[in-house]
Amino acid sequence: MADFLTPEERSERMARIKSAHTRPEVALRKTLHNLGLRYRLNSATLPGKPDLVFPRYKAVVFVHGCFWHRHQNCNIATTPKSNTSFWVAKFSKNVARDERVISLLRSLGWRVFVVWECEVSSLKKAKATGLKLSNLIRSI
Ligand SMILES: [Zn+2]
Repeated sequence: MADFLTPEERSERMARIKSAHTRPEVALRKTLHNLGLRYRLNSATLPGKPDLVFPRYKAVVFVHGCFWHRHQNCNIATTPKSNTSFWVAKFSKNVARDERVISLLRSLGWRVFVVWECEVSSLKKAKATGLKLSNLIRSI
């Protein structure tokens, strides 16, 4: 396909796409905040930089993309038909890293929760997921 966009138009379009993608995640955060949970974002000091950290509850949350992190039995987690062995190797590396990070966090005393992209793909789903998550985080 011919590239008919100027760099400005392209980056503007990319920014729009990106914000559209993150909106449900923001809805998830808002729901948790409305339920009285306070968190820190992307804590660089913890293994795997969890997306949300709840110090008071010793809990961390990752919001994982279904494709890259291989959500089981999820139709977003497809395997590309070409270069398949490259992708399979890449995916298994990602999954192994996720497992490593989670067990490292657990060994440091953190409770780890994973929210999948498909669980927050609409505002309605994000709210429902936020409610469930809040109960899990508070149940120590
Ligand atoms: Zn999924």
